[in-house]
Amino acid sequence: MIEEDIEIAIKVVVVGNGAVGKSSMIQRYCKGIFTKDYKKTIGVDFLERQISIDSKDIRLMLWDTAGQEEFDAITKSYYRGAQACVLAFSTTDRDSFEAIESWKRKVEAEVGSIPMVLVQNKIDLIDDAKMDSEETEKLAKKLHLRFYRTSVKDNVKVDDVFKYLATKYLKLI
Ligand code: GDP
Repeated sequence: MIEEDIEIAIKVVVVGNGAVGKSSMIQRYCKGIFTKDYKKTIGVDFLERQISIDSKDIRLMLWDTAGQEEFDAITKSYYRGAQACVLAFSTTDRDSFEAIESWKRKVEAEVGSIPMVLVQNKIDLIDDAKMDSEETEKLAKKLHLRFYRTSVKDNVKVDDVFKYLATKYLKLI
């Protein structure tokens, strides 16, 4: 088998408080759509998208918590085998920003140290921001994380987030 034929699959978990845009981000990236009233299905599920980096085919499997963020029962199967992680908060939700460190700890407790990225979603609502850019950048620095400001709604920087994670993962294998 030649190298180009080897498929690499990466399980990516998208974590953060409810309503920051996790499901929307997965929908946007994998299906290219944004629906305001997208209703989540019950239980653990994932969508996937194939990308090519350095002529390697990468299959990104993006796992959605399906709104069950607070229920430990789904936690184990959700995190099992995760190889990369998006830590997401919302521009309009201060609590979601303050919860990032605890989400990071939670992921690390479940799967150890994996490539992670910090994402501030809903940047289209910047006029209604509940935090300033200085403190978001400070957090990214403190946690040693690459930081992206996204708008899933306007499709800003969403692709970059996952491309970064895939690239980071490839450097480890
Ligand atoms: P989750 O609970 O983290 O999965 O969040 P959802 O994906 O269900 O999104 C919560 C709400 O935020 C929905 O009404 C989305 O349409 C909305 N939303 C998601 N991303 C964006 C964004 O980038 N900008 C704006 N304005 N709304 C967004």
